[in-house]
Amino acid sequence: MTVYLVGAGPGDPGLLTARAAHLIASADVIVYDRLIPVQALTGAREEAELVYVGKAGGGESVAQAEIQRLLVARGGAGKLVVRLKGGDPFVFGRGGEEAEALRAAGIPYEVVPGVTAGVGAAAYAGIPLTHRDAASAVAFVTGHEDPDKPESALNWTALASFPGTLVFYMGVRRLAGIAEALIAGGRDPGEPAAVVERGTLPNQRVISGTLLSIAADAAVAGVKAPALTVIGAVAALRERLAWFEARPLAGATVAVTRARAQASELAARLAALGAAVIEAPAIRIVPLDGPAPELSRYDLVCLTSPNGVRLLFERLSSARLDARALGGARVAAIGPGTAGALRDHGVIADVVPERFVAEGLVEALRGLPVRRALVARAADARDVLPDALRARGADVDVLALYETVAEPLSEGALAALEHADYVTFTSSSTVRFFMQSGRVPLAARVVSIGPVTSATLREHGMEPDVEAAQHDIDGLIDALIRDAAAHVSR
Ligand code: SAH
Repeated sequence: MTVYLVGAGPGDPGLLTARAAHLIASADVIVYDRLIPVQALTGAREEAELVYVGKAGGGESVAQAEIQRLLVARGGAGKLVVRLKGGDPFVFGRGGEEAEALRAAGIPYEVVPGVTAGVGAAAYAGIPLTHRDAASAVAFVTGHEDPDKPESALNWTALASFPGTLVFYMGVRRLAGIAEALIAGGRDPGEPAAVVERGTLPNQRVISGTLLSIAADAAVAGVKAPALTVIGAVAALRERLAWFEARPLAGATVAVTRARAQASELAARLAALGAAVIEAPAIRIVPLDGPAPELSRYDLVCLTSPNGVRLLFERLSSARLDARALGGARVAAIGPGTAGALRDHGVIADVVPERFVAEGLVEALRGLPVRRALVARAADARDVLPDALRARGADVDVLALYETVAEPLSEGALAALEHADYVTFTSSSTVRFFMQSGRVPLAARVVSIGPVTSATLREHGMEPDVEAAQHDIDGLIDALIRDAAAHVSR
């Protein structure tokens, strides 16, 4: 079967091509390097064989010949093999050698280009590699060659006089030697230069200087791999064109504690605003089994979470029922997230309160005549709503659709949490279960979605630093942005 030599881009998972994502999702075997986006593999099939061939903690990587033997063996065995590499497979990626080996063995192969680090990191640093006024050519150069070695394959004098931008890959440790060789070859020591560390990743750093100063600047900043260096007049354009650092949550590391199934939307939105996101799910939603409720008995049906909506419709659907079962009742949603979930099932909520807590819903329902109500929700939710409806003389049934249980924090999540600037709590249960297996690091600011969650935080001895004015995800993000403007250094 075909072996695909696939570029995974420079780090931001959003820069994976559609073709790369499709092949990762179809692969029987994925042979991958260190510098691929960690999220790239989450799309792999459960049964896929994942083979890591990068360096393990500074140790030796698997020998190139060994990798090639592996590709030939798995490809020859009829497996769909994806050889996943950082950036582009044919730019300093030894993809050429792997293609040669496959060709020699008669195994069909295809090459899927990726965004190479030089292009990706420059774009995210606000450095246009070419510019009508400043550079008409660009050269990608390996910094691996030692300029002091007589047998160096690079012609330093020619590179020094190259009429355009130079991008050095792999050269952080040799940067001083590279700059010296270029200056000796006649390049202007005052030419702008920039080192991009961890380009396109949330913790990207850019060090700016001149050809003369850049090696010392990078050393002072403690730049580590992966990093690359851009040399040329265009490097100075970053002063005006930098955009990555200007995003509202740039520089902030934000932990998300809600259940994994719900975390992705919040995580994606935080990442899009520039935050480095730590997924530290503290809870898991466990659906409870049971029959579909007889909705025709109620004149009011209240839903208090998107999970509740999803699970109510699952129960209806297994009884071959649909949204029409709600036809005889008014439908109340606790907030816009729940109303949105209802809308996805074709139901427009009749009542959505202005404050997205049970007390707000009670208030919003005040004028409504209610005889029999159903409150469909989590097993362990507060009784504010059923109690208030009963106090008004209504007959109330509570339908427990799911349970929230603890999800122990992984070692990785616990370690990552130590670097969090913010830990977000979107419900009382996230607080309770988070406190069972972890703790908020002292330096982190505590973010609460609203007063109920804040009260639970205080019960656990934590004072929220930030509380959303609007008690939903939009409100939480707004509050976080406002706080980051005052508290996050960039
Ligand atoms: N095939 C890859 C390059 C592999 S060589 C590509 O096309 O991008 C590895 C070198 O690429 C690193 O030493 C570093 O110089 C550069 N690099 C890779 N990812 C990077 C990143 N996110 N930011 C800056 N440089 C990166």
